[in-house]
Amino acid sequence: LSRDYPVSGDIPAAPDLKPSYDVVIVGGGGHGLSCAHHLSKYHGIRSVAVIEKGYLAGGNTARNTTTIRSNYITPEGIAFYKEAVELFEGLSQELDFNVMFSQRGQLTLAHTEATLRSFHARAEMGKHLGTRTEVVDQKAVEELVPSLNMDHGGALEILGGLWHADGGTARHDAVAWGYAAQASRRGVEIHQRTEVEGFEVVGDRVQAVKTNRGRIACGQVLIATGGMNYDVALMAGVELPIRCYPLQAMVTQPLKPWLHTLVSSVSLHTYLVQSSRGEIVIGGGSDPYQLYSTRSTLDMKEHLAEGAVHLFPFLQGVRLLRQWAGITDMTPDYSPIMGASPLQNLWLDCGWGTWGFKATPVAGKRMAETIAKGRVPDILKPFALERFETFRLLNEMGATAASH
Ligand code: FAD
Repeated sequence: LSRDYPVSGDIPAAPDLKPSYDVVIVGGGGHGLSCAHHLSKYHGIRSVAVIEKGYLAGGNTARNTTTIRSNYITPEGIAFYKEAVELFEGLSQELDFNVMFSQRGQLTLAHTEATLRSFHARAEMGKHLGTRTEVVDQKAVEELVPSLNMDHGGALEILGGLWHADGGTARHDAVAWGYAAQASRRGVEIHQRTEVEGFEVVGDRVQAVKTNRGRIACGQVLIATGGMNYDVALMAGVELPIRCYPLQAMVTQPLKPWLHTLVSSVSLHTYLVQSSRGEIVIGGGSDPYQLYSTRSTLDMKEHLAEGAVHLFPFLQGVRLLRQWAGITDMTPDYSPIMGASPLQNLWLDCGWGTWGFKATPVAGKRMAETIAKGRVPDILKPFALERFETFRLLNEMGATAASH
């Protein structure tokens, strides 16, 4: 690697908007930037504008807790996220800067027999599809994370866990900035502080994208606007089966390294990971109501603190540094919506809810392939919007709720 951190000079100031581009990507989060990188590097498509209403990757990409894993439930989900993990393994080389990918494994705790049984099903499916996912007993849990409160004989006794050696974490803004820098070097224009306000639809095609800085004619359009996906797609007349909920997280003051895996508890709805800065990143489930807001709440802070202190009692007294929220675009089956829309040249990379950071490389790669070839690759076909009409749902709720 030539250097291990992004340099702001890598991303030149965008020039004035051109009257047209071959591809307009709405949303300058990790997904939009990854798609721009793949279009310009692997498909020779460089007339690309990424339109971002705020600042680069300031949406959910900046707010997520960076869990990367492939221990899902459905074969389609596992195959897709397996490719995601594999791309993360080579991402620092691909981007020529260090995304701090740390493949330290993820341990999901079972406090009940029922949870353990469901873990067996997940482990078998995962093994069958080539991921490193296995059920471990109490003793193995204690060996993996010696500082855990096993609660022997208590109501939340840890009976075992799902150990996923492929799981890991990476630095979220390094990922986004890495893609942005690479795409910029190949001529992609990134227009920050530029908001898409509508689409000019003629027949079954988007003719132009309307922004607060003017009209842009476009060959193809990708929607990758995170928590605003429902609203942005609706501007083109496409109603997605998405509802938005806030999702919160928080970090403690930095501590010496002591937590060497990702730890997640289904029953406590709490997960923890120690960042490379030493902070303990703590997350859990979504807020229980629909809302477009990035404010954080006292009751969620208390809930997350309670779960964290139950699992690691010595955290009591450790100070919190920050708490925040993102708006997550949730689908009914907890799987994303990728591929075609009812309009010929409008493509969807939506429904990433609480689980889409890990998919940043693979979604960008596969959506770029889709746009360049005008054809949805097999790996994305199960995630089509049509599945909600044909009832071919990909239910990942059980693998998504507690650890993202
Ligand atoms: P974003 O990063 O949100 O980017 C979309 C961009 O579109 C934004 O920058 C926004 O400003 C822009 N935009 C919106 N409307 C417009 C418009 N009209 N015009 C122009 N631009 C527009 N996922 C995981 O895999 N693992 C995790 O551990 C995890 N933890 C999470 C924790 C929290 C607290 C949250 C909130 C999310 C978490 N996620 C996690 C989910 C993950 O963050 C998202 O799924 C992922 O970042 C989506 O990336 P994106 O690029 O699609 O969206």
